[in-house]
Amino acid sequence: MSTPTHSIAVVIGASIAGLLAANALASHCEKVIILERDTLPDSPIQRNGVAQGSQVHILLQRGLIELEKQVPGFTHLLTQLGAVRLDPLNDFYLNFPFGVFVRTPTEMSVLSAERPVIEYALRALILRRKNIQLVQQARVVKVDLSRAAVPRVTFSQADAAENNTLHPDWLIDASGRSSRVMEWLQQSEMPLPQEEHTKLSINYASCLIKNPTFPAQLKASYILARAPHDRMSGLILPVHRDGTHLAALQGFGTDMPSDFAGFRAAFQRLRDPLPGEALSTATAVDEVRRFNKPRNHFRHMGFTADWPLHFLTIGDSIASINPIYGQGMTGAALAARVLGERFGKTASGSLQRKITRQYRTLWEIASSEDLRWPETTGKAKNLPVALGHLLGNKVVKAATREKSVALAYAEVMHVLQPPTHLFKPHIALKWLFERLPRD
Ligand SMILES: Cc1cc2nc3c(=O)[nH]c(=O)nc-3n(C[C@H](O)[C@H](O)[C@H](O)COP(=O)(O)OP(=O)(O)OC[C@H]3O[C@@H](n4cnc5c(N)ncnc54)[C@H](O)[C@@H]3O)c2cc1C
Repeated sequence: MSTPTHSIAVVIGASIAGLLAANALASHCEKVIILERDTLPDSPIQRNGVAQGSQVHILLQRGLIELEKQVPGFTHLLTQLGAVRLDPLNDFYLNFPFGVFVRTPTEMSVLSAERPVIEYALRALILRRKNIQLVQQARVVKVDLSRAAVPRVTFSQADAAENNTLHPDWLIDASGRSSRVMEWLQQSEMPLPQEEHTKLSINYASCLIKNPTFPAQLKASYILARAPHDRMSGLILPVHRDGTHLAALQGFGTDMPSDFAGFRAAFQRLRDPLPGEALSTATAVDEVRRFNKPRNHFRHMGFTADWPLHFLTIGDSIASINPIYGQGMTGAALAARVLGERFGKTASGSLQRKITRQYRTLWEIASSEDLRWPETTGKAKNLPVALGHLLGNKVVKAATREKSVALAYAEVMHVLQPPTHLFKPHIALKWLFERLPRD
């Protein structure tokens, strides 16, 4: 462990990105203070500040590897809390737009749990560090940034008559997709980073269930919508060894059911009967929870002429992306690793650029998917995107018959390999000449 050289860092937000940022900084700073607007539950349950927490959260293989490296003991604790080990290719029934993926045992292994359980495990391990202090019910209301002076952060607390102000040596924003970072930069007269965005109507609904019936050998299923006509995706995933599963619908411009009967009926209308049949024996163990996420963004943080002194931003505040491929927590883990490795070795702007770059490919993959829907606005469907769709279609079609292509695709989706991996000659030759249906 390196010797602390910077005294106090403040992190805004105690969710995945904030906890990981605090953990990375705790090796460099004498003290790290996390300001969190919520009261954090002392058990793994849903909380208000992370509204998306009731929806399915897949922790990709790369995310799991990164989390274990940064927070040793994470895998063990998550397993103790009931998480289920899954082979992402062999245990899943994956019906993507051009058919069902060929199943094959892999060396990949993910841990599946509810999102509040993942956050709870990280919180339990990270907050053990003696130089991390969590301040709950602390809502940041103002941030002052400057080229020449350290940041100033003002927060309100429920039981305090007046706001508190801190002047930390470093300030890290991890307040998620509703972060006010653009407003803070503007008010501090700093240049605003370019923001790419996509706007589309995606609705989510999820429900905890017990006793779905899958055919032998299968543990989970994912039916992906086929743009532009087929608009509903459905996922069923075990999230606890006691047999609890999370079933989730993702609809493009379609309303979501509010009760379990409607939820089950929507599963039965998916373009593949398997999940509907699996759900026919299931019982709901919670209510149907709905969520709407109409906008995704990627902010080019750090890529401006000037960047505030000793200020960084991380997590969904930089990139809030379509969760179709479950990349957000893995992005936070990759960014936190860079923060830990590069902190103190480079100026704030340069460090911010390195952090932002961790999200670039994830954004390109996810926003390209957004553009499959004709009503998406914000980003243009240009020639490279159209070519990406065509090649992506060929890959997923070939993955229905070629084990090596299915495996390569899974490795890219789990961020174990870059997308260029699919273009290695021995893999590309198996999908490049794939013929696609005309529609
Ligand atoms: C529907 C949906 C499904 C998803 N599925 C997946 C998935 O399958 N896999 C995956 O890896 N990712 C998924 N994600 C993304 C994932 O939720 C995030 O990427 C991940 O939680 C990291 O977010 P974060 O920590 O940056 O922000 P958040 O989790 O949003 O947390 C922000 C934190 O900041 C606090 N906060 C906010 N404002 C203030 C303030 N002013 N003062 C103090 N505290 C504040 C909040 O209370 C909260 O604790 C999904 C997202 C959505 C919307």
